[in-house]
Order: sequence, then structure tokens, then C-alpha cells
Amino acid sequence: MTGTPDEPRIAVIGAGIVGLCAAYALHELGVTPAVYERGRPGQGQSGGESRLFRHAHDDERLVRFAIESRGIWRAWETAFGRTLVSGDGVVALGDGAIERLSTLEAVGGVDAGEVDADELAVRLPVLGWYDGPAVLDRDGGAIDAQGAIASLAGALGDAIVTDEVLSVRPLPDDRVEIRTSSSTEIFDRVLVAAGHGASLLWRGFGLAVPVTSSAHVRLTYDLIDAPPAQVACLQDGSGVWGETGIYGAPVPGNALYAIGLSETVDARPDGGVVDPTGLAELVDRTNAYVERALPGLRPEAVGVRHCWVTELSWSEDGVGVWEAGGALLVAGHNLFKQAPALGRALAKALVGEALKQDLRPESRLGHP
Ligand SMILES: Cc1cc2nc3c(=O)[nH]c(=O)nc-3n(C[C@H](O)[C@H](O)[C@H](O)COP(=O)(O)OP(=O)(O)OC[C@H]3O[C@@H](n4cnc5c(N)ncnc54)[C@H](O)[C@@H]3O)c2cc1C
Repeated sequence: MTGTPDEPRIAVIGAGIVGLCAAYALHELGVTPAVYERGRPGQGQSGGESRLFRHAHDDERLVRFAIESRGIWRAWETAFGRTLVSGDGVVALGDGAIERLSTLEAVGGVDAGEVDADELAVRLPVLGWYDGPAVLDRDGGAIDAQGAIASLAGALGDAIVTDEVLSVRPLPDDRVEIRTSSSTEIFDRVLVAAGHGASLLWRGFGLAVPVTSSAHVRLTYDLIDAPPAQVACLQDGSGVWGETGIYGAPVPGNALYAIGLSETVDARPDGGVVDPTGLAELVDRTNAYVERALPGLRPEAVGVRHCWVTELSWSEDGVGVWEAGGALLVAGHNLFKQAPALGRALAKALVGEALKQDLRPESRLGHP
């Protein structure tokens, strides 16, 4: 199914942004993996139109990782002939933004700085008047999520196998068996990049991965005026409009703007949400925030994205990679922006290089 007789036989489970980036990075190294996806590429946590690319993180190592990733997004824009990250910037509001700016400055290499109310009004014309602490990351912007998924999946072509993986089993010789609904295959190396589905596959390896799933909701709104040429993404931790965990990103074309609360609704161990009314409350709070903070948007949502999200115990931006025999498991949250650098690091580890120390779970990447 994959590779030439000289190539290692490698499988990637999951065609979300992480699995696709790892598979494409393998392709760049001259290796063709089998990519198992039970549905459409990008149907899981990677679904929806746009994502926010920001450099600001609490952990300097994650800032460096984001810088590396931004460079790869640019290279892939050239390879695919399309814009993948808008470059319209990210504005972050509140005292926390100033603290993160000092982390950015300590690392260096990111065009970011404080902005006043006038510049904010130009960068994010849909936002109400705000003259508190604000930081603009000029190298950040909105990721065209569907464009990225389509480009990567298109480049991988029939390496993507539409099939559900039921089990992943380590073999005594360090190879790995994969059983799908219609096949049993043995691989030299396997990457489990199955998002919310990963913990079910990983049980056979006996590892304790401190990842939890919860339910998230994000809403999309029409702009009242004609789409501006440029619109920044938003992170609002200021509390000025009654919420401290808001993120927002324009949808490609700038006629729509997506807004979400970073809060989520817990899942039970059996997989269902603990309290379904929690999602309805998040929708109400998001609508109320839009009405108060974003006079440039029509306050009636025109689109909704409900989704499971996964998170590691040590940080909401945490990412880690577990190794066992011939298999690697990746877990974390807010991985879209980081996926190109993560994918390249995973691809190198899959072809035999040592896994980057920062990605090992004991490094707790993302922990400030
Ligand atoms: C609404 C929302 C907004 C977000 N905003 C941002 C943001 O602004 N910036 C950012 O960087 N990140 C953001 N994130 C987080 C980011 O989108 C995720 O971290 C990232 O998409 C995870 O990608 P993944 O490939 O690990 O997982 P997924 O996209 O979930 O991919 C896993 C894939 O594996 C497949 N799969 C699972 N089990 C099996 C199986 N047994 N057999 C075969 N296939 C299987 C699934 O079908 C799925 O396609 C956001 C997430 C959401 C939901």
C-alpha cells in the first residue's frame, strides 16, 4: 500500500490538521505514508472555516515553535499557490496581553507591540471603542482552515484511506499492527493523530496520557458593513465587555467573523457531555458579548460549530508526544497554528530521528 521496498512502512491515523501536516512532511522527506481517516479530512477538531494564528504564549518554547510554524506556513503558501495565513494581525486585549508581549520580546523575532485605540479601530473596525492595554501581533492572522486541509489532503491524494481504525497493537519486534474495518496491516512506525478518538486507540499501549475531552461551541456572524480589505483576529482577556476568554477570527473573504468563548463543557468518562445546557449557556454568553463588544457585527449568529476539543493537564496550549515501541501519539490543544512545525518534527521522528526533547511529555511544552 505505501512506499517502495527501501522505505519504512509508516501509517498516520487521523487526517485532521496534525495528521495531514505530519503526512505531508513525510511526503517532503520522500516517504509516502498510509493516512487512515474514518470520515472526511478535517471533520474533527480541525473543522470550520478559520483559525487564529498567534505567536503569543506563556511558554517561550511555544513562542519559538510558533515562529518555526509561521515560516513553514509561508513556505507551504508558495508550494500550494494560495494564502493560508491572512497576515492581518492578531489584537490581544487586557493586562495578560502585556505580560505575553514581554515573553515575545524575550524570544525576539516577532513583529509585535502595544497599540493605541486609534490603531485598534483601524485594525479591527468591528470592535467597539477600547482604550485599555492592547497588543498587536503583526505577523499573526487568520488561518484559512479549509484551504489548508484541502491543500494538504489534495497533495496526499490516494495516500488517504477512508477507513476506521479499530485497534493499534504493538508487536514484540517493535512493529505495529493496525486493524481497520476492512484490513489488517503491519507497519514499521505509526503516528496516532486521532484527536478526540486517540485515547480509545492508545489503551493497548498501557500509557497514561493526561488528556481530557470537552465540548466547545463557536458562532459566526455577518459584518454589517462591506467586508474590509483587512481584519485582525481578536483575543479579549480585558473583561471590559464582561468576558475574559474571548477569541475571534475573520472567515476568509472577511464578510463573516467567528467568535468563541475559550470555556468548554466537560465530558463524562463515557463520552457524553456532563450538562448539555452548558452549551446553550455558552451560546447565550457569546451572543451577549457580540452585542456589547462588536457593534460592527449583526448580533444574530448565522453559523455554529460544535466540536470536541482535547486538552492536556498542564496548559490549555499544551502539546506532547508519547512514544511506545514503533508508535507515536500526539495530544494537545490549539494545535492548528503549530501543526506545520509539529508535523515536521513528527515526520522526522517517524523516519528514525530522535524526537525533539521539547515535545516529550516530561518537557510539558506550553507550561509557563
Ligand atoms: C471551534 C474551534 C476553534 C479553535 N480555534 C483554534 C485557533 O484559533 N487556533 C489554533 O491553533 N487552534 C484552534 N483550535 C484547536 C485546533 O483546531 C485543534 O487543536 C486541531 O484542529 C487538532 O487537530 P488534530 O489533527 O489533532 O485533531 P482532529 O482535527 O480532531 O483530527 C483527528 C482525526 O482523526 C480521525 N479519527 C479519529 N479516530 C479515528 C479512527 N479510529 N480511525 C480513523 N480516523 C479516526 C477523526 O475523524 C479526525 O478527522 C480550535 C478548535 C476548535 C474546535
